[in-house]
Amino acid sequence: MNIRISKPAEKLEEQRGLVCPGCGCAHFRVLYTRAAWGGRIIRRRECRHCGRRITTYERSTG
Ligand SMILES: [Zn+2]
Repeated sequence: MNIRISKPAEKLEEQRGLVCPGCGCAHFRVLYTRAAWGGRIIRRRECRHCGRRITTYERSTG
């Protein structure tokens, strides 16, 4: 017997898992990018949907 078990489709995570805490969408407009100490990059983002602004900290490679 050849029984095939179909796995439930796994959801692919968003690239960074960054979603707006206000509306849950993932579309942001970058207001400005700024380098910080320790090789970090600060990005100020604004949600395109509800206009909520969030700040993200990223590590630059290298
Ligand atoms: Zn939003």
